[in-house]
Parts: sequence; structure tokens; C-alpha cells
Amino acid sequence: MKLLIVGGVAGGASAAARSRRLSEDADIILFERGPDVSFANCGLPYYVGGEIAERGKLLVTTPERLRTRFKLDVRTRSSVEAIDRSAKKIRVRDLVSGREYEETYDKLILAPGAAPLRPQIPGSDLPGIFTLRNLQDVDRIKEWTDHGVKQVVVVGAGFIGLEMVENFVKRGITTTVVEKNDQILTPFDKEMTTPILERLVAKGVTMLLGRSAESFEQTPDGMVVQLKSGEQLTAQLVILGVGVRPENKLAVDAGLEVGPRGGIRVNEFLQTSDPNIYAVGDAIEVKDFISGDPIQVPLAGPANRQGRIAADNIFGRSVKYRGTQGTAIVGVFDRTAAMTGASEKVLRRANRSYRKVYVHPTHHAEYYPGAEQMALKILFHPETGKLLGAQAVGGAGVDKRIDVLAVAIQAGMTVFDLEEMELAYAPQYGSAKDPINMAGFVAGGLLRGDHPQVDVEAVLAAPAPEKPFLLDVRTPQEFASGHIPEAVNIPVDDLRSRLDELPRGRKIAAYCQVGKRGYLATRLLLQVGYSAVNVGGGYETYKLFHHSIRLSTSGIP
Ligand code: FAD
Repeated sequence: MKLLIVGGVAGGASAAARSRRLSEDADIILFERGPDVSFANCGLPYYVGGEIAERGKLLVTTPERLRTRFKLDVRTRSSVEAIDRSAKKIRVRDLVSGREYEETYDKLILAPGAAPLRPQIPGSDLPGIFTLRNLQDVDRIKEWTDHGVKQVVVVGAGFIGLEMVENFVKRGITTTVVEKNDQILTPFDKEMTTPILERLVAKGVTMLLGRSAESFEQTPDGMVVQLKSGEQLTAQLVILGVGVRPENKLAVDAGLEVGPRGGIRVNEFLQTSDPNIYAVGDAIEVKDFISGDPIQVPLAGPANRQGRIAADNIFGRSVKYRGTQGTAIVGVFDRTAAMTGASEKVLRRANRSYRKVYVHPTHHAEYYPGAEQMALKILFHPETGKLLGAQAVGGAGVDKRIDVLAVAIQAGMTVFDLEEMELAYAPQYGSAKDPINMAGFVAGGLLRGDHPQVDVEAVLAAPAPEKPFLLDVRTPQEFASGHIPEAVNIPVDDLRSRLDELPRGRKIAAYCQVGKRGYLATRLLLQVGYSAVNVGGGYETYKLFHHSIRLSTSGIP
């Protein structure tokens, strides 16, 4: 077997190493256009900020190690230029000598990744404007930053953009983010990004949402970033983090099928439309684990696993790729946002029925020092309770909960399974009722009809005749420090003696801080004959939607 692999990082290197473990005899040649193989793309932003101090740490392995340990023929600075499918050969250009040559294959794996998008706007190729994909990019960014950069503009508030923001701020650089959408981190539902936005603003980052860059112009002290809104920003360095596109040229030129957004089409065995050619990683179109629809998800975990699966299939095993859930996590300063499965906006766009609940538990027992609150949202099928997606934002413990929920989704579990989950507990790690159980209790109660709930946006959007009576059951002190407009305050402990203050014949929407006292009030009211619902997730959820973060446009650097 002669196996050729195009691309030597996440997907390609995984495929190569797995192939060798499955066959000692195969001829395996790994072609990589750049000078490095298997480097840590995900660590690059932290090298700019200095958190990762040694460049060498970003090299997960070296071509030499792959040669000696895995007996791989690793050819760096070698660009694969074309595929001749009928003759089963490729054309390679040695980027050092300029020489071109051909190599035949029995099987070929394409793992060329995705290239950062560079919007075609005037001045976007000026010196000082960078995208970030590999070590050479990060070397250039670091060198430029080290030469006295005072102001940075990051265009695009996605995962990579915000990781770069954190690292620039840590270096004391004034940083502005320009994002064309009205929210950051667009895979998430907007309200779940509020705590991250809050933290960015608190750290002094100027956040310009709903804005896009129109042009870049060189000036004596750097450049001016002209926004479509008319605003102008001064910067000595600009990062373009506006997304990636699959590197599909080889595949397209060879007549392989690609999807509408350019992802190389593969079957569940990761075979392209040519059975002798497999494709993995950011370059491919995958099946959405929840909807079954074709999507593109540029993440390292799927790329690594796909590399392994392609190798398995080439070497005689029959392994199917299950699809991609989009489980992702990002850290911005001391806040973490993570998600898995479908978001609410994706479900809405696809017209799929769902219910949702929000809970705001602490990541471990509240009485144990250091408990940090998180917001956890789960989405599930309205009848079966099958989990469809989850998002969490907070500090410690967010990663663990989303990982548990990712497994639950993959296992096809329901919210009722979450109620039963037995998770590790001691006060410094979790709670006897873990946030996962809590989400299950709330969602299970909702589906069983024990816990009627209403979404805060639905209460606020209800037309006047149907608007429920908003009852705040927190303490007067909590009420005074902020409440939902038009709410009336009767603390839950006084409710039994003050029932006559509530209107009969009108629905009562009770809420508290996180939903628990609102639930107690709802149960009480239901039993004494009121029509009552709990406002899901309470005032904390309201604040996610109606935050008071001021995205000031004044003082733009
Ligand atoms: P890549 O890892 O990009 O490798 C493709 C390689 O193929 C490239 O090195 C390229 O030079 C080479 N190549 C392309 N065409 C040819 C050709 N014709 N001939 C020879 N070689 C070729 N994902 C996460 O899940 N979590 C994170 O925290 C995270 N952080 C990231 C941070 C940054 C800054 C970046 C850039 C990415 C990050 N990602 C993260 C995404 C993750 O790195 C990618 O999803 C993953 O690397 C994709 O693997 P791949 O093998 O498909 O492509």
C-alpha cells in the first residue's frame, strides 16, 4: 500500500501516525507546504501574549520524530499542486528547489485545512495587517508587536479574534474589536455571550458591534481603519479574524465533489466522490450530528478523529464518522464560554421544535470558598426531552459541564437522564445536585407539567391584554438593586399572607434571582387556584438579555 497524505498538521499527522500503527509495511508519504508539521495552531495566540513563552513548545512533534518513530517519509516545504485521478498520481512542487515531480498512490488523504479569509477591501494587504493560521504568521505578528505597537484593531469577534484580544490586552496594548454582527462569538446564542462581552469591556477593550471595516490606509503613525459607519480607528497592527474557507483547490481541480460552501464532500467513511481519495479536517463538509445537515466545522478535535478514521478505513477497518456536534470552548480572560450541539438560533432557523431552560448554579457547593456562578442553557425536544444542545458561560466548571452534556447528546440522552446522572461530588468539585442534575430537574419538571415556565423574552413581548402579572418574589433588598420593569415585589416567604394583592383571573409570572424561589411561588400559587408560571432562570436570565454594558462609541482610540 502506498499512501500519500496532503497536509501535515492536525488531520494529516493523525492519519499518518495511525496508518503506521496499522501497517508496518505501507509506504506513507506526508506532504506539508509549510516548514513545520503537527504544530499547535490552538496555542498560537498565547505565544503572542507570552503565556506560552517558548516557541518550541508549539511544535507538538517534528518531521525528524515522525521519521524515526513512525517511519514516515515527511516532506516539508512541499506543495501538492495537482491530482491526476485516472493515473492515481499527484504533482508536487519542492518549494525550496522549485523542482516539480510526480508521486503515484494507491490511496490519498487530503488534509489541507482551511485558509483565513482576507476581505477584499482597500488596503487589506498593507504591512501590519495579519491573519493567523500558522507559526510563520505568529512569528510575524509577534515581531511586529514587539516593535512598539500601542493600538491594535481586531476585525472579527470570533474565537481566534477574542483569544488574540486577550493576549494583546495582557501586553498592555489598547485594543478595539470591530464585529459586523450585533454579537460576539456567533456560534453561541447572543444572550449567552453577555458575560464575555462584559468582561471584555471591563478590561478596557472597545467593542464596536454591528460595524465593519471599509478600508485601511497607511499613515505616518500606523494606519487608519475606516469603518462603514464613518468612524475611524488608529492602529499599528490589525488582525483579521473573519473566518476561514476550506482549502479545496486541489479537490475542485481534480473534479471531486464539494458542497455549496466549498467543503469537500465525503461519505460516512470519509471517502470523497473518488473512493481512492479520502478527506479530513477543516477542508471537508461534515454531517451535523443533531440535524444531519451538511455543515463545515473547523475544529481540532474533529480533524484529529477524522484523520484516525480515514486511516482505519484505508487499512481494512470499517469505521464510520458519526458527524460533528460542534463542541467548542473559548476562554477570554477569566471567563469561559462553551457549547455543544445545536444553538437556539440554528433550531429556530431550521424551524425545529424545542424547549429550553436556563439555570445559574455555582460550579461547586456554594458554602465552599471560591464557588463561581455559571449560566447554563439546555435545549431539548418538547415531547421526548431528547437533548439538542447546550451552552454555558461562567468561570470554573463550565468546561466539565459542557463535556458531560456533549457525551449525553452523543449518547442520545434526554433531560430525564440528566436528572439521574451520578457525577463525582465533594464540595470543592461540585454539588450533590450538580448543575447538570439541576438543568435536568428544571427541564424534566417543565415537560412533566410540574413546573410551568415561561421565557423572559416571551413575557416582555406579550401584547398588553395577555401580559402576565409580573411577580418578583425576592427580598426587598434584591428588588431594590434591580428588577424587571413593571414587576411587583412580594417575597416568597410573605406570599401566603399577601395573596389578596394578586389579581385573580390574570396569569401570574413569578420570578426570583435564578428560578428556584420562583418555582416555589409557582407551585404555591397553582395549588391555591392561580394560573401561574415561573420565569425560567429568573432575574439572572433577564440580565443576559437586558444587560447594562455600555458599548460606548465615544473615546474610540
Ligand atoms: P490544518 O491543521 O490547518 O493543517 C492543514 C495543513 O495542510 C497546513 O499546514 C497547510 O500548510 C497544509 N496544506 C494545505 N494545502 C496543501 C498542499 N496543497 N500541499 C501541501 N500541504 C498543504 N480548534 C479547536 O478545536 N480549538 C482551539 O482552541 C482552536 N484554536 C485555534 C487557534 C488558531 C490560531 C487557529 C488558526 C486554529 C485554531 N483551531 C482550534 C482550529 C484547528 O486548529 C483546526 O480545526 C485544525 O488544525 C484543522 O486541522 P486540519 O488538519 O484540517 O488543517
